[in-house]
Amino acid sequence: MLENKVALVTGAGRGIGREIALTLARDGAFVVVNYNGSKDRAEEVVKTIEAAGGKAVSYQCSVADFAACQEMIQNIIKEYGHLDILVNNAGITKDNLIMKMKEEDFDAVISTNLKGTFNTIKHSARQMLKQRSGKIINISSVSGILGNAGQANYAASKAGVIGLTKTMARELASRGITVNAVAPGFVDTEMTAVLGEEIKEAACRQIPLGKFGQTKDIAEMVAFLVSEKADYITGQVISVDGGMSM
Ligand code: NDP
Repeated sequence: MLENKVALVTGAGRGIGREIALTLARDGAFVVVNYNGSKDRAEEVVKTIEAAGGKAVSYQCSVADFAACQEMIQNIIKEYGHLDILVNNAGITKDNLIMKMKEEDFDAVISTNLKGTFNTIKHSARQMLKQRSGKIINISSVSGILGNAGQANYAASKAGVIGLTKTMARELASRGITVNAVAPGFVDTEMTAVLGEEIKEAACRQIPLGKFGQTKDIAEMVAFLVSEKADYITGQVISVDGGMSM
């Protein structure tokens, strides 16, 4: 389905990004497995993809670094000729109540989650416009839709990702490029592993389906949105959250 497509997945060495990389490779895409600090884990993802008969490479770059994103995307286009799919998955949390939140923790989360998404889109857009095709998926969050006490920085970044998604969808639609956001609820990864049992139980009470999601729940939605089946879907925020945000 995604044969001959080149996909860049940011933060793909672990968690949701890893699963997205494996799933897009399963569907035939050549996947660039971007990572920031997790070199060994990104290489493991590449090996897993290759062992299953797919194709991938790993690439170190912090999405928060504007110039480094430009270099990464230019290198991908130079090396592989095109860029068809961009999945902005890289993200961090630095939770605290507003009274205790440090300025640098606000800035760091915005720089990675929101500015990072801008950085990669900014440097991919020209190529996608030239190609007259492209699929961009931005990973937002239920926190960006509902807000969440203790996550002023994170919720603001993820709400910002939604505004960015809708604006990019409008700017790029005339050239056949679609831009959508996926908003996960609580998903079992290292990001949520740090939450205490009490918080996890309280979270489950807010989820109509009564449990955390799995990385494959998010990855399959991304795989659908980047496929031809979703050619007429753009500017949407698809919640994959067990009903939490309805
Ligand atoms: P993890 O904490 O498990 O993984 C985070 C990923 O982001 C890692 O691969 C990490 O790479 C990467 N990353 C962080 N900073 C950078 C950077 N500057 N440049 C490149 N990559 C970076 O998180 P999840 O897998 O749980 O989350 C993935 C996405 O899903 C995030 O955007 C998150 O906000 C969102 N999300 C997650 C939810 C959840 O419940 N888990 C709920 C809603 C949204 P490395 O290890 O190489 O540094």
